[in-house]
Amino acid sequence: MPLAERQLIARIRRTSNSEHRPRRAVNGIVTGIGDDCSVLRTALGHDVLVTTDFTLEGIHFRRDWHPAESVGHRCVTRGLSDIAAMGGEPVAVFLSLALPGDLPQSWVDGFMRGLIRQAERHGARLAGGDTAESPNGVVADIVVVGDVARGKAILRSGARPGDGIYVSGSLGGSAAAVLQLEAGRKKSVKPREYSRHFFPEPRVELGRILRQKKLASAMIDTSDGLSVDLAHIASESGVGAEVEADAIPLARVGRPSHEVDLELGLHGGEDYELLFTARPNRRIPARIEGVPISRIGCIKRGRKILLVNGEGSRQELLPRGWEHFRK
Ligand SMILES: [Mg+2]
Repeated sequence: MPLAERQLIARIRRTSNSEHRPRRAVNGIVTGIGDDCSVLRTALGHDVLVTTDFTLEGIHFRRDWHPAESVGHRCVTRGLSDIAAMGGEPVAVFLSLALPGDLPQSWVDGFMRGLIRQAERHGARLAGGDTAESPNGVVADIVVVGDVARGKAILRSGARPGDGIYVSGSLGGSAAAVLQLEAGRKKSVKPREYSRHFFPEPRVELGRILRQKKLASAMIDTSDGLSVDLAHIASESGVGAEVEADAIPLARVGRPSHEVDLELGLHGGEDYELLFTARPNRRIPARIEGVPISRIGCIKRGRKILLVNGEGSRQELLPRGWEHFRK
């Protein structure tokens, strides 16, 4: 059974404080957990970024597939990755958590540890939230607040015809783990060999550098899959695109490791890489802060997104997206 609410909050507060190592001289949280509201202070000349995400048992994770720490880690990573996609810096995390009455407290401890560590590694602190009893499964609703210099957030709407399309890291690694789990091969899915699924890393540093060096004209994180996320950039920018199939960086998974199928690279979600566009006169390095960057195509006029294969034939790339764990 999870602890009663007051004890649970006291415990979360202790975990949050003991894990906290201030990384930045200016912290945006004036008052965190323990008052009616938390008080955030943003620097003069900055914009506040806010993103919210649900993590639902049975939809985004399964307790028999995912260790509690992984669930907490992934829960906050979704929000951190959205902040990264704007070129912002995470400041504060708010968590509303509903727990079934028969959930072991050790599960809650693992979840909170995974969440708080991951938030603090990226410069954010847990600054408040709420708890309740859930009639059916774990429900976590997370809000991540970030900041960015005023007017400098990188939007989805900035792409223009002629811009190059780039993606960080590799794609399809997270979906590959889900396929294995769905096929009943849980034993062969070691969290260490499939870390992109169990312990993904938001590209916060990369996003910040792309903003500071004014390299990206539009940006999004790959949470739903390349085909869907690129379609978001295209529709918000009012443009089309051409993607080269051979240029898509496919993840390597398992042991011995093998490359995932192109289908997973195109449509698999939850890799939390950054997908961005850059003006043709911007030179994009092959690596930024150790993260490989691949040029995968070009923004075009019109509205269609085309996939070009090795022989040069073109087909429309429809946003197929990412169905969460199917029943
Ligand atoms: Mg996003």
